[in-house]
Amino acid sequence: MFKALLVEKNDEGKTSASVTEVSEDQLPEGDVTVAVEYSTVNYKDGLCIGPGGGLVRSYPHVPGIDFAGTVESSDDDRYKPGDKVVLTGWRVGENRWGGYAEKARVKADMLVPLPDGLDTRQAMAVGTAGLTAMLAVMALEDQGIKDGPVLVTGAAGGVGSVATAILARLGHEVAAVTGRPDQADYLKGLGAAQIVAREDLTEVTKKPLEAEQWGGCVDAVAGAMLGRVLKQMQYGSSVAAIGLAGGAAIEGALITPFILRGVNLLGIDSVMQPYDNRVRAWKRIARDLPMDKLEAMVQPATLADLPGLGRDILKGQVKGRVVVDVKA
Ligand code: NDP
Repeated sequence: MFKALLVEKNDEGKTSASVTEVSEDQLPEGDVTVAVEYSTVNYKDGLCIGPGGGLVRSYPHVPGIDFAGTVESSDDDRYKPGDKVVLTGWRVGENRWGGYAEKARVKADMLVPLPDGLDTRQAMAVGTAGLTAMLAVMALEDQGIKDGPVLVTGAAGGVGSVATAILARLGHEVAAVTGRPDQADYLKGLGAAQIVAREDLTEVTKKPLEAEQWGGCVDAVAGAMLGRVLKQMQYGSSVAAIGLAGGAAIEGALITPFILRGVNLLGIDSVMQPYDNRVRAWKRIARDLPMDKLEAMVQPATLADLPGLGRDILKGQVKGRVVVDVKA
């Protein structure tokens, strides 16, 4: 038996989450069993801890869309007991049991060996949000980041915090957009050169274009803000769109930035990234993410804290990265 955050659904369709003992034969099929050390709290976890948001396929369910730990047993030649591994994506924690448990069983293809220079706690301080931030930066680099400030929206959130720290470390002038003015010092500590108030970018205007400002953008927010930001991008620059914390619709005069300024809108999906990309991104994280800055982003938690944290992240009230010590 081992400890897990189990989400159950009653006959009226109402879900409830609690820390419970579960048995190993309840784990899903898979060729590698991992002793989970750390997991994290992402927006999708907030949905899965609660009513599921359409992501969870069956109950009882163990959420946790990412985890890091040590291989306990393996039927796959690529992994042996004692290997340190990290998992993100593959809908783990959504349609199969995830990282909010002391053990997880997955397919070997879903894992990535922990890169040199990262321990399991640091890997989860990065987690899905940090991996996504790195994939976004790599996508911008592939297109070429222009001179001038690089915008990060939803900057005090998980993806935004890591994107801010990586871009600043790489020498870019980061303009961090936040709706929480009290987080300005935190964001400057991560390396942001300027703070932009959320309300400066959420007013929908009829103008087809505005003055060129941003040399690149990592956008976690979409909605009205993305519509506005697109009109302010420099000629030939790119926006890496990773999330929709501010709404699914892009508002405004949409087509003009693309046809009159050659702006690129790059969609980033961390869930189905090919193995080689995931390995490359994790190696870049180990190299380019300042670990002292990472510590400043971390809020520690235990399995028992998760129901409350799940509600907080859905309200956009979590700062930086929550690292769940699964064995605590
Ligand atoms: P967080 O909740 O940690 O951060 C989101 C941030 O967005 C908030 O902290 C807040 O930042 C800002 N925000 C929230 N609501 C609004 C609003 N209404 N208008 C403008 N800004 C808002 O989430 P994550 O960083 O973990 O994830 C961000 C998004 O990315 C989510 O939609 C998530 O589902 C998605 N995602 C996508 C991935 C992918 O593979 N593409 C992977 C991981 C996440 P502030 O307070 O600074 O304004």
